[in-house]
Amino acid sequence: MYVGRFAPTPSGRLHLGSMLALVGSYLRARSCGGRFLLRVEDLDRARCADQNTSLILEEIALLGIRADAEPLIQSRHPERYEEALSALKSAGLTFYCDCTRASLKRAPCRCESRQEQLLSSPQALALRAHLPAVPSGFEDKLLGQVEIGDPYPYLTLRRSDKVISYNLACVFDDIKAQVSEVVRGQDLCYVTPRQIALIRALGGAVPAYVHLPVLLGPDGQKLSKQNHAVPALERGTPAQVLLTTLDLLGQETADLKEDMQPAAILERAASRFDLGRIPRAPLEVERRWL
Ligand code: GLU
Repeated sequence: MYVGRFAPTPSGRLHLGSMLALVGSYLRARSCGGRFLLRVEDLDRARCADQNTSLILEEIALLGIRADAEPLIQSRHPERYEEALSALKSAGLTFYCDCTRASLKRAPCRCESRQEQLLSSPQALALRAHLPAVPSGFEDKLLGQVEIGDPYPYLTLRRSDKVISYNLACVFDDIKAQVSEVVRGQDLCYVTPRQIALIRALGGAVPAYVHLPVLLGPDGQKLSKQNHAVPALERGTPAQVLLTTLDLLGQETADLKEDMQPAAILERAASRFDLGRIPRAPLEVERRWL
């Protein structure tokens, strides 16, 4: 059974780049006759406001997209990740670490050999995994073989402020929901080999991957919330946003019109969704979506 999902981080509303992942993952699931799930990745409470979660879920509904189950809001179940932490601890794959991003730029982490000393200090520590057998790349259904280069074996599981990391929560929830294919942006390709190693360490089945092109503004900058990309539905009606997104995904739009109901547009697009037509290279978008 095909199970797909869209997993937004509600640090803002959906910009056009998020629309690619949303519409791409939804149409792929529908065109495979599969299930489609929503998951809100809001464990980082400092970055994610509940108001954004409500807005995003409303936006998804306005676009005519319906999931096959209630959305999983990660922050409402923070304890569910303890099971994964214990399993990794028991497997001897974890270590405490006091490195910061800045210190890691200066020197590699040596915390694995300082565990006793670290644990006797009062400071807050992150919990990281030292993953076995991180592959150097992975097979992507759109991009073919993707090589990331020298495998980096470390992955943060829980930050020093006790927040469960995106990678652990994402991998654990994908395993629990039996997600069979992950459709998301190419900006996450770099971490996919380590996510694969983490899935294996947790005894899960590795899903298939489809990494969609990232969007660039006319200045060549990646469209992202960090770069203050505007919410797409502030710049277009639901139908206009869908048609623009389908164009960017290389899908046929000639017979689709802005006065059609969003659900009708999606139904037609799903009936002929073609992975092979999706471009692989970054896509430039008009200034209105920035
Ligand atoms: N929450 C991530 C984001 O908004 C996506 C995670 C994923 O699809 O694996 O970028």
